[in-house]
Amino acid sequence: MHTPLTPDPTTLSREQLEAEVRLLRAQSASLAQMFEQAPSFIALLSGPKHRFALTNAAYQRTIGDRAVVGSTVAEALPEAAAQGYVALLDEVFRSGRTHRATGARFDVRALPGGPVNERYLDFVYQPIADARGVVSGIFVEGHDVTERTLGEIALRENEVRYRTLFESIEVGFCIVEMMFEGTRAVDYRIVEANPAFVQQTGADVAGRWVSEFAPNLERHWFDTYGSVALTGEPAHFEHYAEVFGRWFDVRALRTGEPSANRVAIFFSDITERRRIEQRAEAGERELRLITDALPVLISFIGADHVYGFANKAYDDWFSIPAEMIVGQDVRDLLGPKAYAARKPFMDRALSGEAVTFELDWPHRDGRARVAEIRYLPRRAVDGHVDGFHVFVQDVTARKQTEADLARQVAARTAERDQVWQASSDLLCVANFDGHFVSLNPSWSRTLGWSEAEMKARPFLDFVHQDDIAATLSAANGLAQEEAQLTFENRYRHKDGRYVWLSWNAVPRDGLIYASTRDVTEAKHQADALAQTEEALRQSQKMEAVGQLTGGLAHDFNNLLAGISGSLELMQTRMSQGRMSDLDRYMTVAQGAAKRAAALTHRLLAFSRRQTLDPKPTDVNRLVTGMEDLVRRTVGPAIHLEVVGLAGLWAALIDPGQLENALLNLCINARDAMPDGGRITIETANKWLDEAGARQHDMPPGQYLSVCVTDTGTGMPPDIIGKVFEPFFTTKPTGEGTGLGLSMVYGFARQSGGQVRIYSEVGQGTTVCLYLPRHYGEADEDDVTRRLAEVERAGQGETVLIVDDEPSVRMLVTEVLEDLGYTAIEAADSVAGLKVLQSDVRIDLLVTDVGLPGGMNGRQMADAGRERRPDLKVLFITGYAENAVLGNGYLRPGMQVLTKPFVLEALASRIKDLIAET
Ligand code: ADP
Ligand code: MG
Repeated sequence: MHTPLTPDPTTLSREQLEAEVRLLRAQSASLAQMFEQAPSFIALLSGPKHRFALTNAAYQRTIGDRAVVGSTVAEALPEAAAQGYVALLDEVFRSGRTHRATGARFDVRALPGGPVNERYLDFVYQPIADARGVVSGIFVEGHDVTERTLGEIALRENEVRYRTLFESIEVGFCIVEMMFEGTRAVDYRIVEANPAFVQQTGADVAGRWVSEFAPNLERHWFDTYGSVALTGEPAHFEHYAEVFGRWFDVRALRTGEPSANRVAIFFSDITERRRIEQRAEAGERELRLITDALPVLISFIGADHVYGFANKAYDDWFSIPAEMIVGQDVRDLLGPKAYAARKPFMDRALSGEAVTFELDWPHRDGRARVAEIRYLPRRAVDGHVDGFHVFVQDVTARKQTEADLARQVAARTAERDQVWQASSDLLCVANFDGHFVSLNPSWSRTLGWSEAEMKARPFLDFVHQDDIAATLSAANGLAQEEAQLTFENRYRHKDGRYVWLSWNAVPRDGLIYASTRDVTEAKHQADALAQTEEALRQSQKMEAVGQLTGGLAHDFNNLLAGISGSLELMQTRMSQGRMSDLDRYMTVAQGAAKRAAALTHRLLAFSRRQTLDPKPTDVNRLVTGMEDLVRRTVGPAIHLEVVGLAGLWAALIDPGQLENALLNLCINARDAMPDGGRITIETANKWLDEAGARQHDMPPGQYLSVCVTDTGTGMPPDIIGKVFEPFFTTKPTGEGTGLGLSMVYGFARQSGGQVRIYSEVGQGTTVCLYLPRHYGEADEDDVTRRLAEVERAGQGETVLIVDDEPSVRMLVTEVLEDLGYTAIEAADSVAGLKVLQSDVRIDLLVTDVGLPGGMNGRQMADAGRERRPDLKVLFITGYAENAVLGNGYLRPGMQVLTKPFVLEALASRIKDLIAET
């Protein structure tokens, strides 16, 4: 540390000089000491780069004891450069003007990256200039005022904080200065008031005397504040300020020096709360009035078992005034026994449960009394149960009535139950979901199902399929509040049969109440009667027709066969040119023969004595084969459509008969559509289950249906009931025989099937034939082959022909010889058998069934088979002796041909049989 100030040595004497030097040294040392120990920080900067020439200890402390002398400020104190102090020095150096700063902040960072020390400094930058005024350096001097500054800042912040609080709290706050006369407060001045206070008092009263702005203020306020100011005892009270018309909650406490007579006051406006409280008080008064007026005990018992409230009724029950009950312990009031009886319920109420119970609570004079007691727990604001309300009612009278009623109900129920149990009627209750709700035992007795079984399923499950629609409609009526008094339907017995029930049902309260009767017996009797009548009618008619057919048909047919055969032969001869003018007779005869034959056929089919030759038949193919014939028969005005089900089963029937039947149905359809229309023949497979089969009156199983539908006149129900009767016709005499549908019916029944008619007047008619399914393939087409196509017989093949009618024998012989066979004739069974028992070659026996000579054709054939087991037989018969021919089912190698027949049919049959192995 050297002083740069050096006196000019040339102007002084040696002594002077030495003295001067000593003085200077002393001065310099003391200066150096002063400089070093100065409380202010000092630094000397030289040159434009502000290189440190000198720093004192205080400066060193300020900058964190860094070695700076010899370095520039920018090098030594980079944070000072960053905070703009170097720029400031540059400015001072350049301008030569002194810079002063107060409380300037300087963040000292003694180590690069080290902690920042926040300092506040008062300082001066003073330029050092030479005689010519050229600046050569800067003198830095100042004080660290950090402590002071931070204190100031903290104070300022505090003040702001309190001010904010003061301004923003909702509680009114003011500081008043009391004025006394002696110890009596006579006035006070509002020194300071926050906005809430101003708002509550409704005036800006800061700085004003109360006597000015509220001259009529009650003494209370003066006395209270005065006492606070004098004694230093804080005060807390609620008071109504009439001048403001409001209630206040007030806290007052002395503030500042006692001599200052200052009081800090907090005001809260509690007018609203007071209003609510007052209302509650009024409500409570009212409540008491009401509870006192009630003939019911009402009280409140706290969690401590002490009465907190009791109404007037307690006076009567306990004969002590209710006021005296409040504050009493339950146990003391009731006595230990009554208390013990209530204790469990009290515990439950105190655990938060509302309880109701009944107790015998005799009157004081001993009369019986039943009390219904209710405990309703009361919850405090925090949710815990702080006691319970008690309501006690005298229910003696009610109990008595209830008991009487219960006795009556029991008696009535017992009576009714007896009726329910014992009634032979079926009594039940059902709901509109379609289930039984309850059933009396008669149901099980009648239907076999247990009550549980009947309840488990919808009642419709038990109803006969055909009665479901009617049952639903009855239920619908009930749903519309209409009683159903004449309704009948069938219910299924557990064993499968159906029971007729007659219903008497009424709806009530969403349920169906029904009394039902089993009328099966009556129904059956009625049905049986009708059936008997019907059977009688049928059998009479059958007998008539049976006699007709049985008596006449045989001869009739033989005759016919002769006539038509002869005609055919005559025609053949004629075509050979032998006779030329018999044409007309021949046509007439043949026409007559055909009509007669058709009539016989129908008669036979109708009388069900016809011989059937059932074969597995492809019905679709049969129908298709008939399409042309039908079309020609019904004429062009009627459109025919055939809808054959693909995959139709085979049927076991006589195909010829089916053709006949279909033709009949189509003719009926045509007759029903005089102006034209549409006929549809449709085939289908049908599987009839138990119910379906019962409905169709046939055994369950698989069937084919062949239905003929027309768009004709249709039939009313009463006509439908009669159409199967033989000779029933609605057609003019000569046009209808009334035998068509009889024949169809006979055929279907004899084939093991059924016929059904569906018809609606004006809409049309469908007649369906149900035919039993044949399990297996249908036979190859059996279309009659033309005579010309028949191959000639093999050499030596011999046929025996037995018939008592010579014309028939002649005819057959002719055919056989045409085919190249050898024919042997016999006129009766004896002659026939003789041939059969001989050694003559016989490839085929053709025989009538009814034969003279003691044996019928079948017996003769059987006898012949003893000799010739493989003998093939063709029966030709006018009407079927069913029993004789095994009811339509013949042994292998035996066939039937019905007279009259076309010769081609006879020829191809004979040919086929002989060819068969
Ligand atoms: P017929 O045809 O000779 O009268 P049917 O036994 O074939 O005898 O028919 C009996 C009666 O049934 C007919 O007279 C007719 O009244 C009625 N009928 C039959 N089929 C039909 C049909 N498809 N449409 C209207 N009525 C019919
Ligand atoms: Mg007819």
